[in-house]
Amino acid sequence: MRKLCYLTFYTIKGLLGVVTLDCNVQSKMLEQSTQKYVIFIKTLNNVVVFVQMLHKRDEIMQLLTDSYGRRIKSMRISITDKCNFRCTYCMPAEGLPWLKKAEILSYEEIVHVARVAISLGIEQIRLTGGEPLVRRDVPELIRQLRAIDGLHSLSLTTNGILLKQQSKALAEAGLTRINVSLDSLMREKFAQLTRRDQLDRVLEGLEEVEKYPTIHPIKINAVAIRGYSEAEVLDFVRFARNKAYVMRWIEFMPLDADQAWRKEDILTGGEMKAIIEAEYGPLVQITSGDPSETARRYTFSDGIGEVGFINPVSEPFCSTCDRIRITADGQLRTCLFATDETDLRTVLRSGADDELLAATLRQAVWKKELKHYIGDKRFKHASRSMSMIGG
Ligand code: SAM
Ligand code: SF4
Repeated sequence: MRKLCYLTFYTIKGLLGVVTLDCNVQSKMLEQSTQKYVIFIKTLNNVVVFVQMLHKRDEIMQLLTDSYGRRIKSMRISITDKCNFRCTYCMPAEGLPWLKKAEILSYEEIVHVARVAISLGIEQIRLTGGEPLVRRDVPELIRQLRAIDGLHSLSLTTNGILLKQQSKALAEAGLTRINVSLDSLMREKFAQLTRRDQLDRVLEGLEEVEKYPTIHPIKINAVAIRGYSEAEVLDFVRFARNKAYVMRWIEFMPLDADQAWRKEDILTGGEMKAIIEAEYGPLVQITSGDPSETARRYTFSDGIGEVGFINPVSEPFCSTCDRIRITADGQLRTCLFATDETDLRTVLRSGADDELLAATLRQAVWKKELKHYIGDKRFKHASRSMSMIGG
């Protein structure tokens, strides 16, 4: 059978160009290395793809790069699967069967993986969960991670309920960025969505974290759900502009444990933006030049405030994805929607040295999924729901 071949040139920074040609090459994966370059040949849907890395072999082999040429720079680490909320878009009302203590990576194990991952080019780490602040001594973990050379940014995603008590310790430990999830500013609606009547405590937590300017920016994350979020878009804009919080809406994804997600529930970033523009006039795009940035970011014509839309469903950004995730029980996931995981915990607990751990990470990352297939016949539900993965 005649096969179509693409010769694809990648640099460490991304795709450089693609050349199409006819060829007659074995469709099995080959790896050839020359002194200077690495050339990979693999098949993709029966099409042979040559991936030529235009960088020195040693350089490539040290960095986490996948078979589509994406360089992995960001790692989310879930430190617990437990949570004190039961958001309807994430967890069932009765919770989930929690992991046993022995199944969860210790701080020592987390720091070990992080140190090796940073040596392979990870620059940003975000701690998440479940609700990360329900785990004991999070500031201690932050202190240890901050001490690793090469880490540029360390952030935390939280539902905010424990921030009143913990902000000071988090700031002192060296936390530099925070995302607080908040889907409604109305008490009843908040209680209905989170199944917990705790809006006041979250708002108090936000007030507290504001006292520590080393934690900057403070981002508010809201999931955009049709029929639920539209009415409060402008309230959130006013709230964020007054408080100098950065506002983000993320499209609802099929990652809820109840599997109640329907595509009709998606409220797209484009629709949210139109609601804001009807009130404030055209938004002004902010460009950072970072191709792996997930949010479309905007300010207002008066320059006050920032809003952003993360549109994984209506405008997937898989082609520039630079993220991997580690679950609380030490499984490496190379996509939110992965159906396979790599068991780092067993590798760690078998006494692996840094080299073996690095090889395991590189091998897993190499097989990172091309894309999620939401809205496509090929879509498969992820093997875990959001709180078990770490969003
Ligand atoms: N408990 C913390 C929190 O809520 O911020 C951290 C973990 S939570 C799983 C991380 C983020 O995932 C939150 O901002 C939450 O809103 C988001 N999330 C959860 N389920 C989602 C879904 N089905 N679609 C989109 N985002 C979701
Ligand atoms: Fe808990 Fe966060 Fe999931 Fe809500 S979104 S149930 S706060 S893990």
